[in-house]
Amino acid sequence: MDYSKINLGQLLSSENETIKRNAVGILKKLQRGKKCGCGRIIEITQDYCEECQKENKEANRIERKKQKV
Ligand SMILES: [Zn+2]
Repeated sequence: MDYSKINLGQLLSSENETIKRNAVGILKKLQRGKKCGCGRIIEITQDYCEECQKENKEANRIERKKQKV
């Protein structure tokens, strides 16, 4: 069986109880959404929320200034 070609719907309708339970777990995680370190919900494709991205940029700028001195 090629697992890379199976989608979540197929897993959810599986007759194997263990597979089904795992699939439900994945589905719940997806529905809850991914969270940034600060607790805000973000897109699956993002690592940080916009606020944290701004803060990180600011921190990097300050760090660079320090290095110049
Ligand atoms: Zn954040």
